Amino acid sequence: MLTKLKSELNKKLPRGSVLDDIAERYAYSFDASEIQAKCSNIADVVVFVQTIDDVLEVVKIANKYKTPIICRGAGTNTVGSCIPVNGGIILNFSKMNKILELNTQNMTIKVQPGVTVGEIQKIAEQNNLFYPPDPSNLKVSTIGGSIAQNSAGARCFKYGSTKNYIIDMLVVTASGEIIRTGSNTVKNAVGYDLNSLFVGSEGTLGIVVEATLKLIPKPQETQVLMAYFNDINDTIESVNQIIGQKIFPSTIDFMDRNALSTVEQFYHTGLMTDKDSALLIEIDGDYESVLKSKYNICQILNLNNAVNIQYSKNEQEADEIWKARRSSMAACAKLKPNVTTDDIIVPRENLAKLIKGVQKICEEYNLTSCLVGHVGDGSIHPQIPVDFSNKNEYEAYKVAKVKMYELAISLGGTISGEHGVGLEKKPYISKVVESGALNYMRQIKKVFDPNNILNPYKIF
Ligand SMILES: Cc1cc2nc3c(=O)[nH]c(=O)nc-3n(C[C@H](O)[C@H](O)[C@H](O)COP(=O)(O)OP(=O)(O)OC[C@H]3O[C@@H](n4cnc5c(N)ncnc54)[C@H](O)[C@@H]3O)c2cc1C
Repeated sequence: MLTKLKSELNKKLPRGSVLDDIAERYAYSFDASEIQAKCSNIADVVVFVQTIDDVLEVVKIANKYKTPIICRGAGTNTVGSCIPVNGGIILNFSKMNKILELNTQNMTIKVQPGVTVGEIQKIAEQNNLFYPPDPSNLKVSTIGGSIAQNSAGARCFKYGSTKNYIIDMLVVTASGEIIRTGSNTVKNAVGYDLNSLFVGSEGTLGIVVEATLKLIPKPQETQVLMAYFNDINDTIESVNQIIGQKIFPSTIDFMDRNALSTVEQFYHTGLMTDKDSALLIEIDGDYESVLKSKYNICQILNLNNAVNIQYSKNEQEADEIWKARRSSMAACAKLKPNVTTDDIIVPRENLAKLIKGVQKICEEYNLTSCLVGHVGDGSIHPQIPVDFSNKNEYEAYKVAKVKMYELAISLGGTISGEHGVGLEKKPYISKVVESGALNYMRQIKKVFDPNNILNPYKIF
């Protein structure tokens, strides 16, 4: 059967689109989740699509042979969403990467799914427009993957996540139909909101082949502050007071002591490694409002014992500060053979309890943790270097991870704010989504994908 499937794919798709070699299939069977160390399943075949017609052909053939299709952007999701659990076709979108239309009057951009988020931001900014969602790895993560995971990032504190910017999509369904999920307009109150249904569905309901995104005007001015503290209580109190005074920076991000020292150890960006923690605060808007917010924020930081406040004086300096924060996972990866990153979120009022609790859990289980996070949202990413081949360490990590989820849930939070569920968090979904809602989700999956060929075994 597999031989027939591959031969049909080869016949119907342009030359060079189908990869069948074991090394190639292996290379595309992993993502940025920890599952890579445990997974023994590999894809049956990898297909690089370039057009919607290519996608339709693949879906037709997959249906004929009841073979799973696992869409793949850059493979950077951290929850095992791209793992071919039972083999199947990896549908690789990296060559479907064109900007189709930029409409500066409507302030929209139409793109193919393999365009990176960084590219969308760049094109928007060249035209004095702005696409705010900014997963830390935006230079590589694709819009298709970001839609599927409802990716967010630091700026989502002020601007919201991917779902807030999707106004329309073309989606190929499991049965090979093309459906349009929205309209050309930035508002649309007609019928069920299919955009929202597909965003965050992790490639399990349909295949996004085109997306129209809303853009907003580019802020006139952007400045980044980095403030260091000796006590975590001061750090969190600063966050609470900034928001309490209704100041809305575009980001309020966080690095703990381990994150600061690990990044500095490997990337030397001049971080102060003797401090307990730091906040990275980006303020944007018109020139006067940025100055005013900066002044007010600095007052609050000083009142809360900030020991050092640095400002970016130009874009390059702002980039340097962000580079340090965005390098944290890469730095952690240098400490041990493996690195895990998690994503838990609580109502902001419980943030301090979450941070301290996670630090305590990691200490208890003898794990190094670098905590970073979008603390304005109440979200943190514990990044934990682990040697998966060390059985005791790996077992300790697994127990600690469950304890972190339990802690977040006990504080009124949930197990993912932006990374999704995939395979990694599937065992825990019933702890945060009640059975009635879960049942409806399963029924929705059956309506869209009765043969269970789209990214099966993910989410629930
Ligand atoms: C270092 C690092 C930092 C990160 N920082 C952040 C962060 O700050 N915020 C955040 O939210 N996330 C973050 N992530 C997670 C990750 O970046 C996002 O999930 C990312 O947007 C996924 O994009 P991708 O192209 O890699 O998708 P992939 O990993 O390739 O795919 C993700 C999911 O999308 C599906 N998919 C891909 N293309 C399509 C399509 N065309 N149609 C339907 N389904 C599709 C896949 O099947 C899969 O289920 C980070 C990851 C790393 C490794």
